[in-house]
Amino acid sequence: MNELLIVGSVALDSVKTPFGNVKEALGGSATYASYAASFFTPVRLVGVVGDDFPVEHVELLKSRRIDIGGLQTARGKTFRWSGAYEYDLNEAHTLATELNVFETFKPHIPSAYKKSDFVFLANIDPDLQLSVLDQVDKPKLVACDTMNLWIRLKPEALKRVIKRVDFLFINEGEARLFAGMSSLIKAGRLLQSWGPKFVVIKKGEHGALLFGDKTLFAAPAFPLEDVYDPTGAGDTFAGGFVGYLANSGGDISDANLRRAVVYGSAMASFTVEKFSLERLKTLSVGQLTERVRLLKELSHFDHP
Ligand code: AMP
Repeated sequence: MNELLIVGSVALDSVKTPFGNVKEALGGSATYASYAASFFTPVRLVGVVGDDFPVEHVELLKSRRIDIGGLQTARGKTFRWSGAYEYDLNEAHTLATELNVFETFKPHIPSAYKKSDFVFLANIDPDLQLSVLDQVDKPKLVACDTMNLWIRLKPEALKRVIKRVDFLFINEGEARLFAGMSSLIKAGRLLQSWGPKFVVIKKGEHGALLFGDKTLFAAPAFPLEDVYDPTGAGDTFAGGFVGYLANSGGDISDANLRRAVVYGSAMASFTVEKFSLERLKTLSVGQLTERVRLLKELSHFDHP
């Protein structure tokens, strides 16, 4: 009933930060989002990998509440992304994007998944996101994410996507780029006017902003002393957020949306503590709820 369909990339990431590097580690927008969402709700993952994709990664996904019946294996190489970060960990510099099996990928939504009430279109080519929207059967709630590459290459297709979603997740720099203005508040409002009921702007270590018709909510990021690798933080945030909403039956009351933002923010704070999904793999529900409690304390104040 609360099943969440997630479509996006499953990748092998090579990442360099000032604190170390990894080569061909498990990554991808759908991977992080599915893993995060699986803490809250059953997930159905649709994506593609190549025949070089390590079997242990498939086993990891299967060990969670993630149905991988929609994860195709195609002949060829898995999608690869490599990126680097400087001391300002908020901005990823893409070094290389090798689409490989994504070049010919056509998302096929298995018939058992078409009736998913909740759909998250993780970062992927907007034309593929549109094709997913054409295949699903009246979901209760649809959310999408994107990135600077698609804003530059396919702004019109992306506009068609966001016209059809309830939630748009986008990071700070990308919101400015897409809206063509520097004020984040104006950018959030403009993006919202293009279709989505809600826009969530992710601001890395500065937290997140939620825009709705009657809502403007700001949540902090968890104040971590050491961040090793921000890769996947945005996908984890979105997966946690949408997973939380699915688990609460799609309740989009103001109070529930605020909780979803904070859960997303808490979840993302674990991803950045290690490379790839290493920290998420050992995360317990108790540790997550404790971080949510600390986040509540962090910005609470009394007023006479
Ligand atoms: P983020 O949450 O924004 O840090 O997303 C990082 C993830 O996005 C990495 O694991 C990459 O594999 C994935 N990624 C990077 N570029 C693309 C792309 N063009 N399409 C789909 N996924 C991508």
